[in-house]
Amino acid sequence: MYERLTELGIPVVIMEPLLGGQLASLNDHLTTEMLTREPSRSVASWAFRYCGTYPNVMTVLSGMTYMENLVDNLNSFAPLKPLTPEEVSWLENEVAEEFESFPIIMCTACQYCMPCPYGLDIPGIFAHYNKCVNEGSVNREKGTKEYRKARRKFLVGYDRSIDRLRQADKCIGCGHCTPHCPQGIRIPARMREIDEYTELLRSDISPL
Ligand code: SF4
Ligand code: SF4
Repeated sequence: MYERLTELGIPVVIMEPLLGGQLASLNDHLTTEMLTREPSRSVASWAFRYCGTYPNVMTVLSGMTYMENLVDNLNSFAPLKPLTPEEVSWLENEVAEEFESFPIIMCTACQYCMPCPYGLDIPGIFAHYNKCVNEGSVNREKGTKEYRKARRKFLVGYDRSIDRLRQADKCIGCGHCTPHCPQGIRIPARMREIDEYTELLRSDISPL
């Protein structure tokens, strides 16, 4: 839509520049590449600078929870260091392709699906799962060293971040949430997948 809006002389306002925070925590490989290219800038700054590089963008609305988010935003935009054509091409091709190939759930934590009548913390469950995918902590190869590490990380983090009564196994598939999700996520199906993975890890009786 950017080109069309520009043709019509309508300035662009960008919401969710970080896709609900997902572009602030990419997988380890992309994070390392970004920090190698710009050691003094955050991962999130790449998304901000991408938005700011386009001259018809009037403003970028970014949610900020902590003071460090505000500081990071200010450092990214004042002054703005526009991306080079090579950097734009790198983001649009290599980074986007790798990002899309990772099996994360495209939840932006908007909360429109909440509250779940059965008490599930839908965005919290997806956030934990995505974090583990990005960190390489989703692993089904039983018996390997990586599997043991991933299992521990997933299960310990899951219980710490989501109350047991609000985890994926409590989903009864009522479908109440699905029509509210602007990302079109098939929430009950994804809950089942996460629950199956959790059960696989929990059925392993070796100590964490
Ligand atoms: S389908 Fe599952 S997550 Fe969605 S509202 Fe029903 S119980 Fe909650
Ligand atoms: S409505 Fe969709 S995108 Fe928003 S929090 Fe729920 S699952 Fe995530």
